[in-house]
Amino acid sequence: MKLADYTTVRLGGPARGFVRVGTEEELIEAVRAADASGEPVLILGGGSNLVVADEGFDGTVIQVATRGVSSGAGPGVLTVAAGEDWDAVVARSVAEGLAGLECLSGIPGLAGATPIQNVGAYGQEVSQTITRVRVYDRKTSEVLEIPNEQCGFGYRTSRFRGTDQFVVLSVTFGLAVQVRSVPVRYPELAAALGVSPGDQVESIEARSAVIELRQRKGMVINPADPDTRSVGSFFVNPVLDAAALAVVEAAARARCGPDTRLPRFATTEEGLVKVPAAWLIERAGFGQGYNPGDGARISSKHTLALVNSGSASTAALMALAREIRDGVRDTFGVWLAPEPVLVGVTL
Ligand SMILES: Cc1cc2nc3c(=O)[nH]c(=O)nc-3n(C[C@H](O)[C@H](O)[C@H](O)COP(=O)(O)OP(=O)(O)OC[C@H]3O[C@@H](n4cnc5c(N)ncnc54)[C@H](O)[C@@H]3O)c2cc1C
Repeated sequence: MKLADYTTVRLGGPARGFVRVGTEEELIEAVRAADASGEPVLILGGGSNLVVADEGFDGTVIQVATRGVSSGAGPGVLTVAAGEDWDAVVARSVAEGLAGLECLSGIPGLAGATPIQNVGAYGQEVSQTITRVRVYDRKTSEVLEIPNEQCGFGYRTSRFRGTDQFVVLSVTFGLAVQVRSVPVRYPELAAALGVSPGDQVESIEARSAVIELRQRKGMVINPADPDTRSVGSFFVNPVLDAAALAVVEAAARARCGPDTRLPRFATTEEGLVKVPAAWLIERAGFGQGYNPGDGARISSKHTLALVNSGSASTAALMALAREIRDGVRDTFGVWLAPEPVLVGVTL
């Protein structure tokens, strides 16, 4: 068994042990038993945000296959088992006339992973609708219900990221009971829908438009599209304060001409802006389709997606990631951080 068979980028060596768990009790028991014996554990969802070393994982992989969606706890409330397919959850919410997840259509992986990096796209993040996350705490062996305000959600992060203390068992969402979407915030999506940012459309329309936009960028898994053999975006967009922004702006003018305007997006934090990593990567000389020739390349549809052409190794993928990170650092003075979880490798 190779972990390459369980990751969307189709990379990763063998694991010493592999167990698939179908119930919450089995999941907790598998983790508890491994912890008791000192066995390293890797919790596996859909493998869409994982880069695993060619050497594999020296421990037990626990694949989450728990199922169940319950909607009995009140209007708009959905409690979803960690092992549910994420896009099926979105599709169901839209079909049931619930709004708040429609822009998160087409994202691969399982529901239990969504709080970990606060999954987001096209103006929505799960932190906007998650009301609580039920977890198994490996430190105390307790099952806890963590309310939204204690989840530490931020841009592509939460208190569950960068630690293996918590195993997500289920996630509860509080959605608006309406067939209309929540206001469409993302300009590219609004344009695709022919509306202005802030307008609402039918959720089903928003879902279709998002999936179409994502397909064009190779951001919906499709075995027939080699550009989707990736982990999605490899780098997060850097978040800069005013001083760091001024340095990058000066570097951008030096590199691209005096009239260059560095694109940026507001963040929820005062004084901080997000700069598109794709813009920096392209201007640093790594365009779509960039291919150093050892099996790993940049997607031909999306600058942020690093793709396994079929013959890549994890080492080759990481070498490409390092080349891009170093090029952006040398050109703009910004360190790009990886979005996927790296197992047995470092950038
Ligand atoms: C084509 C493509 C497009 C993508 N687009 C987006 C996007 O638009 N926005 C976005 O935010 N992300 C995107 N991603 C990244 C990815 O889909 C999400 O991060 C997704 O939530 C990962 O889910 P998963 O089940 O595949 O997690 P995995 O890759 O299996 O695991 C990721 C991490 O979460 C941990 N984990 C998984 N399940 C649990 C659990 N139940 N309890 C505790 N830890 C757990 C794992 O141990 C690992 O550390 C994309 C990926 C691809 C391949």
